[in-house]
Amino acid sequence: MEDQHEPPKRVVVCGGGVIGVCTAYFLAKKGAAVTLIEKSSIACAASGKAGGFLALDWCDGGPLSSLARASFDLHCSLARELNGPQSYGYRALDTLSLSITESEPAHGRKPSSKLPSWVDGPSGNARPIGTTETTAQVHPQLFTRALLSKATSLYGVEVVIGKLERVEVEEGRVRAVALEDREVVKADAVVLALGPWTSKLSLLSSLFRVYGLKAHSIVLEPKEPDAITPHALFLSYYSAQGGKPMDPEVYPRPTELKRVQHWELRRVRQGTTSLILVYGALSKDREAWPGAGHPCFGLVIELIGEVYICGLSAEAEVPDDPPQVVPNPESIRVLKRVAKTVSSHFGEGERVIAEQACFLPCTDDSAPVIGEVPGVKGCYVATGHNCWGILNGPATGAAVAELVVDGRASLVDLTPFSPARFSRGRKW
Ligand SMILES: Cc1cc2nc3c(=O)[nH]c(=O)nc-3n(C[C@H](O)[C@H](O)[C@H](O)COP(=O)(O)OP(=O)(O)OC[C@H]3O[C@@H](n4cnc5c(N)ncnc54)[C@H](O)[C@@H]3O)c2cc1C
Repeated sequence: MEDQHEPPKRVVVCGGGVIGVCTAYFLAKKGAAVTLIEKSSIACAASGKAGGFLALDWCDGGPLSSLARASFDLHCSLARELNGPQSYGYRALDTLSLSITESEPAHGRKPSSKLPSWVDGPSGNARPIGTTETTAQVHPQLFTRALLSKATSLYGVEVVIGKLERVEVEEGRVRAVALEDREVVKADAVVLALGPWTSKLSLLSSLFRVYGLKAHSIVLEPKEPDAITPHALFLSYYSAQGGKPMDPEVYPRPTELKRVQHWELRRVRQGTTSLILVYGALSKDREAWPGAGHPCFGLVIELIGEVYICGLSAEAEVPDDPPQVVPNPESIRVLKRVAKTVSSHFGEGERVIAEQACFLPCTDDSAPVIGEVPGVKGCYVATGHNCWGILNGPATGAAVAELVVDGRASLVDLTPFSPARFSRGRKW
């Protein structure tokens, strides 16, 4: 007889990166009572430090194709719902591939007509690889925080700042999660979205491996932000020191985007209180904020007109706490050299806003792991999104919400991502 699927009432989502937040949002929208548990702060890791580049068809021909296409479309509809262009810099943009040779003189060359005028460094082989129909971007930290803000204010998602210690299982079914401070949060279903920290949980590390690739990025405020047009650049960068070319990426972010910080005091289960920081959709009107004027709320608006440059990744040990992830100074120096070589706008009078590192969550077969954990009813995992987690967050979240609430995902076929693929031949 087929197992009857009973929709869970209380769902705990662990991990406040883009995957956990998207999952919490879509679960709550489908009527589940959701608690999101994050050990540090929302979008503190890769989901806050990524490029935020989105592509419709770059995953075509591989297992991610339908997930990526569905997610590109969902980003578009979420941007309408959440005022994405203003609140988190959602916009379509053109994308170019080009080579840059550091040792060649920048001046005295005829600029390529295929390149925007701010790309005035020693470049060659420029060609379009994406158009405003097929490529877009978001500011990933603002996106994640805006979505969570909507999930808390509209659908009642509760946020707890605390570290998941273990999942409590009885008779093969999930019952609760235990936090480091011994708080136990009861749950009918649990979704584990721990990114590169997945393998620190023995329940999952006994089934498959998620390892971290440490990647670096810098964020600059160019001297004339308005001169930087919406063009993403994928480079083959030939350093003056020789060696294999590097492949840094350059993403300008819109100048009209404003960062809004919104503090909110939120009561969490069992009578304890914790102060959390939620970033919400943009509004110049202070009164539009729920709770405006309350002493526990604050608002800061800051104008953004920045350029994000990333690259230089290598496998490395993932430290326990996200704030312990610090960049390697040599990698930052190289990225600053890349910036100066690509454009004179990034080499004089610019301000460095961030020098940072974070971890891509990677699996042994390069595909994400999304589905129910074999042998533990009601326990789900969503991780291993590698370099496409910002793109694939919405469709992952929506499909996991369907799987948890309805018993099957209809938006995307999740079979290729099932965690069971790592345990073929095992008896559960
Ligand atoms: C340099 C760089 C550039 C990138 N650019 C892009 C891009 O342009 N487009 C794109 O689509 N993708 C991009 N990515 C990939 C994308 O950032 C990741 O795939 C995505 O952010 C992963 O999201 P996540 O939620 O799985 O993990 P994370 O963002 O790492 O979040 C995991 C969260 O879980 C929390 N956590 C961990 N353990 C616990 C615990 N025990 N209890 C409670 N909480 C816990 C952590 O604190 C963290 O907040 C980029 C990545 C990097 C590194």
